[in-house]
Formats: sequence, structure tokens, C-alpha cells
Amino acid sequence: MKRLVVCGSTGSIGVSTLDVVSRNRSRYEIFALTAHSNVEMLAAQCRRWRPRFAVMSDESAAMRLGAVLSSEEPQTEVLAGASGLQQVAAHPEVDYVMAAIVGGAGLVPTLAAARSGKRVLLANKEALVMSGRLFMDAVREGGAELLPIDSEHNAIYQCMPAASADGGARGVRRILLTGSGGPFRERDPESLHDVTPDDACAHPNWSMGRKISVDSATMMNKGLEVIEACWLFDIGPRSLEVVVHPQSVIHSMVEYEDGSVLAQLGNPDMRTPIAHALAWPERIESGVAPLDLVSTARLDFEAPDFDRFPCLRLGFEAAQAGSSAPAALNAANEVAVDAFLNRRLRFTEIARVAEETVAACAADDPRTLDDVLELDGAARARAAEFIATVSNRG
Ligand code: NAD
Ligand code: MG
Repeated sequence: MKRLVVCGSTGSIGVSTLDVVSRNRSRYEIFALTAHSNVEMLAAQCRRWRPRFAVMSDESAAMRLGAVLSSEEPQTEVLAGASGLQQVAAHPEVDYVMAAIVGGAGLVPTLAAARSGKRVLLANKEALVMSGRLFMDAVREGGAELLPIDSEHNAIYQCMPAASADGGARGVRRILLTGSGGPFRERDPESLHDVTPDDACAHPNWSMGRKISVDSATMMNKGLEVIEACWLFDIGPRSLEVVVHPQSVIHSMVEYEDGSVLAQLGNPDMRTPIAHALAWPERIESGVAPLDLVSTARLDFEAPDFDRFPCLRLGFEAAQAGSSAPAALNAANEVAVDAFLNRRLRFTEIARVAEETVAACAADDPRTLDDVLELDGAARARAAEFIATVSNRG
């Protein structure tokens, strides 16, 4: 029986995780659930799963949840804020931590889980993009097991050779990172100026939270995934190619020196990578329908269009530049996407805000958590200034 904390349990990945656990109740026990501010949904999850802890990062929401649960579910202790998150993620009785908070807010608990040697199921790519070397060092020094949940990285993990004991050459030539191209792959670039948040969130293949849906529409998601892959698999961005694959059936590929290309296929449903990472090296039921290749019929591939999707170029550039660029890119993107979702910024301005912020925030390689948080804060402030200027221009 493995004790699991689900950080971000009310989100798209969190709900899918609980669905996989519900199919495998003899293997996993829910130790803690966490959410930002949705009291009703977290209360309902606590009634069903009866965890030891429930954490709300919003303090007033935590008070309300505490009031609801104290009479109904007294076994569940309610904690609040970043310290509550950190406490459950690093709790000595915990085995596995699902890191499914969206954005930089997930960094501190995810890093705490890594430092305390948990199996970290990493959906929260922003945490790794922000902290790169610091995070990978924490995994190594803490003796954690890092399993990627992002479908592409989970696919690559499955196609990689087992780590050789001597760390010698693995025969890998390239990683082929697939992406659907999002909802605007074929749309007239001129018309992107006027797209609404609902247009951008209407992903053709995947149902996801709103932030990552916008990132998929700009292809910043693929840019962040390039950086994520470089850290997870210890390769440079020149050994990585993005391939647009509109059907989202091949989730990524690894090419070897002998010409072999290994791919992982499946229906686009996050319960597959979640089940893989929970059970690894075993396999468990996920609830995902079997892939029907005959009805899929076609698998198409295209080169990405870097002019239409400047955010993808920014991702490659930040991966190559390293140092402060990935964290600045991530911070600016979070602020810009939030402004777009709240109709304060045009879709096509997201890339500009990101590019200008990265240029303005060049700094030394952030080495400590404080360095990362300081850089993140400075980049968010710069991005907000750029957005104010852009909005004033009308
Ligand atoms: P979501 O918006 O559906 O859910 C986010 C979760 O984080 C919610 O439980 C929310 O309460 C919590 N949260 C939000 N802000 C918070 C804050 N400030 N402090 C603490 N908790 C907070 O997002 P999602 O689509 O489930 O994505 C979660 C993460 O997984 C993201 O990093 C995303 O990039 C990654 N991911 C998601 C998918 C997918 O299919 N949804 C695929 C690959 C990777
Ligand atoms: Mg992905």
C-alpha cells in the first residue's frame, strides 16, 4: 500500500489521478488532497477519500473547509497556505506525491517532495522549468524517484533505455517530441489577433485546465516541454526535434544511433501516463479505452511553423541560453496568459510579453530557491509592466 498526496486534486490531472486510484484501491491510499480555493469540490473529495490531511492554499478557503469537515469528517485535518502544502509533500509517512498544481505555485511543495526522497509524479512542468538544475539536484540528493506525467515525457521515459550502471553512452541520437499543434494549427495567422479565451481553450484532442490549454494554443506548452525534456533526459536542445502530429496518438519518440525509432502510442487520455507513473515498473488498469488503430487509420506529421508559433522558438532559445532565461520565460508566460484569460491582453501579444521579459530579466544562473523566487518575482513584475504598456496602446 503506497501513501499518495495529490497536490492540485481538484484540477484536470488531480481528478484523473483519483480516477486511476479508484480502479486500484488495494494499491494506493490517499494521504492528503490539496486545492487552491474550491471548498465544495475539495470537501466532496474528502468525503469520498477520507484523507489524513486536506490543504487549501487560500487561507480563507481553508477556514471554510475546516468548518465543513470538523463535524462531518473529523479524521481529516485541514492545513492552509504554502507551509501546509510543504508539510504534506514532505511528510515522513508519504511515499508518492502527484505534483499537479498549475504554474509556479507548485514549485515549493514539488521541491520539498524531491528533497525528502518521495516518488515524484511530475505534471507541474513549470516547477522544473523554473528551477532546472536546483530541482534535478534535489531529486539526486534527496534520493527521489522522478516520473514524468506530461504525456510526451512519459512516452520518452518509456522509450528510453534503462539507465546503464556506468552511466555510459546510451546510443540515443535524438528525441522527437510530438505536439498536436493545438486549435490554431491551420487558422489564418491574421485572424489570431482576435481569438477569445474560449477559442484558445478549445483543444482538438485533450481536455485540460485553462492555463495549459492557452499554452497549447500558443505552443508555449511545447516550448516549456523542450526545456522540461532537456532536464529530465540530460540532453541539449539541439538533440531534440519537435514534430507536429495532429492526431495525438504517438506521444513522442526516441531515435537511436542504429536508426531505430521507438514510439509510445495510446489514446490521448492522461490516465495512461498517470497509471504508468503510479505503478512503474509494473502496469495497472487506467480506465483508458484500447487504441483502435483501424479507426485511427492515419498518423500525420508536419514540421512546426516557428513564424506562426513564436512561443515555440522562445522555448528553444531559452533552453539553449539556460541560466535565467527559462524561469523568466515561464513567469512572463504565466502573467501574460492570465491577462489574456481575463481579456487584458491579446492572444498575439503573449509571445511579445514573454520575449521582452526574458531580454529584460537576464541574470546569473539562479542557484538557490531564494534566487529562483526572486527572479520569478522580478520577471512577473516586468511582464505586468509590459502588459500595462501594451493595454494602454489599445
Ligand atoms: P487545472 O487548472 O485543471 O488544476 C490546477 C490545480 O492546481 C487545481 O487543483 C487548483 O486548485 C490548484 N491550484 C491552482 N492555483 C494554485 C495555487 N496558487 N496554489 C496551490 N494550488 C493551486 O490544471 P491541470 O490542467 O490539471 O494542470 C496541472 C499541471 O499539470 C500543470 O502544470 C500542467 O502544465 C500539467 N499538465 C497538465 C496536463 C493536462 O492534461 N491537464 C497535461 C500535461 C501536463
Ligand atoms: Mg504535454
